[in-house]
Amino acid sequence: QAKKNGRNTFCLFTVEIENAVNFRTALEFDVRKAIDHKEFFLHYQPQVDLQGQLIGVEALLRWQSPERGLVPPGLFIPVAETCGLMFKIGQWVLRQACEQSAKWERERPEKPIVIAVNVSAIQFCNLEFTSDVSHIITQTGANPALLKMELTETMMVDDVQATVEKMYILKRLGISLSLDDFGTGYSSLSLLKRLPIDQLKIDQSFIKDILVDASDVAIAKSIIALGSALGVDVIAEGVETLEVRDFLSTIGCTKYQGYAFGRPGPADQLAY
Ligand code: C2E
Ligand code: MG
Ligand code: MG
Ligand code: MG
Repeated sequence: QAKKNGRNTFCLFTVEIENAVNFRTALEFDVRKAIDHKEFFLHYQPQVDLQGQLIGVEALLRWQSPERGLVPPGLFIPVAETCGLMFKIGQWVLRQACEQSAKWERERPEKPIVIAVNVSAIQFCNLEFTSDVSHIITQTGANPALLKMELTETMMVDDVQATVEKMYILKRLGISLSLDDFGTGYSSLSLLKRLPIDQLKIDQSFIKDILVDASDVAIAKSIIALGSALGVDVIAEGVETLEVRDFLSTIGCTKYQGYAFGRPGPADQLAY
């Protein structure tokens, strides 16, 4: 009887943990079957220049779960990463984006669209990553010059030499590289100098309040200055209004992505 009570008491304390674990396990189970059941798809969000011309799109992963509805990537990607599924999902994203890229190029050869694909650290660090990328490009017939990869500073911290080498392999394949969520990580200027990147993407956390927050202005300005010192492009993400766009243009940022120019949507709804 004592044992039983003890156990019940213990259960009271763990019920929340148990719920959390169950939720996680169930989510993991659903993510696992999502690939085979074709529940993933990509949305594309426009990137524009000062004139509002489309200069590219970012591919964003979406999961339409029959049980859960539309699940945001911020919720399922961390789960996919910890349960070892992110490499497979990431390669699916890349293949899908390459197929779309080849299709757009066939349909509108005179109007090339660069597709930026997010790459998770787990995917990037996999030993088969670059050879897989090269296979996918060959198999889909995508033009690597129209492919951009969005990497993050977090994948640069471990083995810098190996990371830099891998980035050069991608560059040699003809792919361009962007550093996503820039300013939120820990990369040093000396590291940055070694990276063969083509673009810095100012994180949206510095953009959303830029009209009222002086430190955001200072941060954005220094990223823009850094970009021009390194000779790389700078794009701002999370540009929600034309006022923000106008302000960014006065401080020298001329490429934008955000709700002001279009929400992420299906490929065939892209106006260009
Ligand atoms: P991210 O790469 O920084 O993507 C930008 C996020 O900001 C997207 O959220 C986009 O929908 C959202 N966004 C765009 N414009 C605005 C705006 O004007 N205002 C606001 N408030 N938000 C805006 P989403 O699609 O929920 O994706 C969240 C994150 O999930 C992405 O952040 C990226 O880190 C990750 N993710 C998405 N797709 C993939 C993928 O295929 N692979 C990997 N590894 N990660 C992905
Ligand atoms: Mg991104
Ligand atoms: Mg970003
Ligand atoms: Mg972001």
